[in-house]
Order: sequence, then C-alpha cells, then structure tokens
Amino acid sequence: MHIQDIFSKNPTTFSFEFFPPKTPEGAESLFQTILELEPYLPHFVSVTYGAGGSTRELTHELVLRLKTQTTLDPIPHLTCVCHKEAEVRAILERYAVEGIGNILALAGDPPRTPDYRREESDFAHAADLVRFIRRFNDTGAHPDRRGFGIGVAGFPEGHPATPNRLLEMDYLKAKVDAGADYIVTQLFFDNRDFYDFRDRCELAGIRVPIVAGIMPVTSLGGLKRMAELSGGTRFPAKLLRALHRCQDDPEMVAHVGVHYASEQCLDLLGNGVRGLHFYTLNRSTATRQIFSSLGLRTARGQEKPTV
Ligand SMILES: Cc1cc2nc3c(=O)[nH]c(=O)nc-3n(C[C@H](O)[C@H](O)[C@H](O)COP(=O)(O)OP(=O)(O)OC[C@H]3O[C@@H](n4cnc5c(N)ncnc54)[C@H](O)[C@@H]3O)c2cc1C
Repeated sequence: MHIQDIFSKNPTTFSFEFFPPKTPEGAESLFQTILELEPYLPHFVSVTYGAGGSTRELTHELVLRLKTQTTLDPIPHLTCVCHKEAEVRAILERYAVEGIGNILALAGDPPRTPDYRREESDFAHAADLVRFIRRFNDTGAHPDRRGFGIGVAGFPEGHPATPNRLLEMDYLKAKVDAGADYIVTQLFFDNRDFYDFRDRCELAGIRVPIVAGIMPVTSLGGLKRMAELSGGTRFPAKLLRALHRCQDDPEMVAHVGVHYASEQCLDLLGNGVRGLHFYTLNRSTATRQIFSSLGLRTARGQEKPTV
C-alpha cells in the first residue's frame, strides 16, 4: 500500500525492521521471527540494504518472500552511494513489477577509501536518490499512478558527518522537497531529542510524518555495537545506571532494556508520535514484550492495534 494511504488511514503506525541474513539457517531463523511478529499486523515492515549493493540480491529475496508468503507489506531500503543510475533503475523496475509500494531512500555510508569522491558518483546524497525515484514515478512504470511512496532517514541527535546542525536541517528539508513522503529516525534513548527534532522539522517547514526509530538494549554487547553503528547516539545515565546494576545478569539486562524502551514508547504515544518503528535485529522477543507493555495484543483477524 502506498505510504500516504497507510498514514491517512492510521493516526499511529507500528512497523518492524529486518536485515537480510547471509546464510540459509539465518534466513529460516528470521522467518520464525517473522511468523511470531506477523500476528501483530504491523502497518509495514522494512528490509535493510547493504551500502554499495552488498546485499542487493538478499534484500530483494527477503522483500519478495515477505510479499508473497506473508500478509506483511515490505518496504525495501535502497542506498545510492556507489550505485550507477542504470543499476538503481533496474532495481526500481523489478520492485515496480512485483507491486512493492514504497522505498526507503538512503545514501548509505560511503567507502572509507581515500580515492572515493562522493560528488563524482551518480548519486552524492539521498536527496539525489529521492529525485531519481520521483522521475521514475513520472514514467508511469509503477502500477500505482503515484509511483513508489518514498521514505528518508532523519537523525534526532544529528548525523555525525555534518556537525553543522542548521545545515543538516536544510539537507533534510531538501530530501522532503525532492519528494519524500515520510521520515524514519535513527534510534535514540532520550525522547527529548526526538521532540526537539520534531519541533525543528516543523520550524523548517517539514510537514511529512516522522516515525520514531526504537531499538531496545538486549545485551551489553549489543549496547556496544549500537554505540559503534549509530555513531553519536547518547546513552542517558538513567539507562546506564540500571544496566550497570545488573551487568552480571544477561536476563536482567534484557529486562531493563525492554522496560526502558517500553517507557520511551508510552511517552512517545502520549505525545502524539506518528509512528513507532522497531529495529528488531531479526528477533521477536523484545518487540513482543514491549507490545505487551503498551497493551497492544496480537490482532489476527481483527483490526490493527489502535492507541
Ligand atoms: C532509518 C534508517 C535506516 C537506515 N538503513 C540503512 C540501510 O538499509 N543500509 C545502509 O547502508 N545504511 C542505512 N542507514 C544508515 C545511513 O545510510 C547512513 O547513516 C548514512 O550516512 C546517511 O544516510 P542518509 O540517507 O541520511 O544520507 P543523506 O541525507 O545523503 O546524508 C548523508 C550525510 O550527508 C549530509 N548531506 C546531505 N545532503 C548534503 C548536501 N547537499 N551537501 C553536503 N552534505 C549533505 C548529511 O547531513 C549527512 O551528514 C539507515 C539509517 C536510518 C536512520
């Protein structure tokens, strides 16, 4: 379904993110997770894409499997750094034929080689990809006359590559002006960062729905990986204090992480968040526990959960 229709029908959306496993065992284990999460009837699920095309086929296979073997509505991520226009066009053509409704348009992290020049690639920034998808939409190659719905990434605490936070909002506005329909944020642990980001978007004239990215801490190793991957995310003392209290007990660490994320979600829902997007890391337990804390039950055969 086109993302504009998803947002117009639902005051709050719930969605899950998966990454494509590299082994057949990983793929089967992910499918078990998906079967456990499917009864929650998420409004969409998204599938990550390895920067530079490293998971091009795996992402496509998972998206197609979700589309054909489940009731879920998959949104593929697509990164543009290092891709040629022809490659991206071929990816879009395939998804259009398969009836995929939306794409999350990203830059992807550039290679860390000295000879790489972002400006010289066919796509320097995500805004270029958004414009390219819009032009593709205008060709009428997609079964929906509006073409693909388009999402982009937002960074409540700022993107580490752009220390100038005013310019950064200009760049985000450029993605929306180029045709993005919604924003999904990087994970964050202090809701004040999200609310301030939302206010700054409003001041910048960004009017599209902003979906909050949520990733519960499930282990201390996971916490360290998050700090590496999400570059710049702050870990509030309140969270760290609770984790330190139980650092020798992995089960309790996971419990603290789920409790903290549940409180975050309750507060976001109470403050009119447009959507909650769960970075599942291909596991279902933490997400199911958070849903249960929020009073959201599985709803097979019924309406989707409402708040
Ligand atoms: C929700 C979400 C999903 C993600 N999924 C994936 C994924 O599937 N695969 C993956 O590899 N990565 C993924 N990422 C990571 C993302 O690709 C990186 O963080 C990347 O560095 C930024 O991507 P972007 O789309 O925001 O890029 P952009 O909007 O292009 O921004 C990249 C950097 O360039 C700056 N910039 C933008 N426009 C300009 C301009 N005109 N001039 C100068 N500077 C500019 C920005 O401020 C920022 O610092 C995801 C991130 C989020 C938040």
